[in-house]
Amino acid sequence: LPTVSIMGIPVCKWGMKDTVKYLTQAVNSGKPHQIITANPIMVMAAMEDPSYKQMMQKAELIVPDGTGVVWAAQKVGEPVAERVAGFDLLHELMKEGERHHWKVYLLGTTSEVIQEAARRLTLQYPGTEIVGFRDGYFGPDQDQEVIDAIKAVSPHLLFVARGADTQEPWIGKYKQILGVPIMMGVGGSFDIISG
Ligand code: UDP
Repeated sequence: LPTVSIMGIPVCKWGMKDTVKYLTQAVNSGKPHQIITANPIMVMAAMEDPSYKQMMQKAELIVPDGTGVVWAAQKVGEPVAERVAGFDLLHELMKEGERHHWKVYLLGTTSEVIQEAARRLTLQYPGTEIVGFRDGYFGPDQDQEVIDAIKAVSPHLLFVARGADTQEPWIGKYKQILGVPIMMGVGGSFDIISG
């Protein structure tokens, strides 16, 4: 992948179109991919916490979500094609999913919000099947049951909204057991989608 290093974090230089193309191939490969939508807060977290940095460096794809990251790439003389916002990427993947009949699992926020987000996404992208959802308020003791519930419906996409300090390390820790082709932290996206 063509990347630019921002404080040791390899950020992909592709724009939205190439990113979606790559992720479609990722789904076809069937192999697990962790997608991180990088913003300056995450880069700062990586600078302060070596385990967070390692987790980021092991991600299969890091896209330039924050304008600060886009700016930093420009600054080091290796500009990215454009900003690839996580919120936009979520919608692009839902749209792409309609063409390939992808299955999606939504994890995070409260029960009410995730249920409403699932309802609205189903209305907007009826060809992409939401095969399951659950809230993001659970502790490590429930990780296994959450993983089992996801694996039981074998989705192609897993979107996780639990806050950046939790969602990315959680995906990083379990991506091999989860085995979902595309796993991406989406922060506050479900809050926006649910209205
Ligand atoms: N969230 C969650 N479980 C948690 C903490 C947060 O599901 O333990 C959800 C929260 O409801 C919100 C999303 O994660 O929808 C993003 O949370 P927040 O804005 O606090 O995190 P940030 O993106 O600012 O790190």
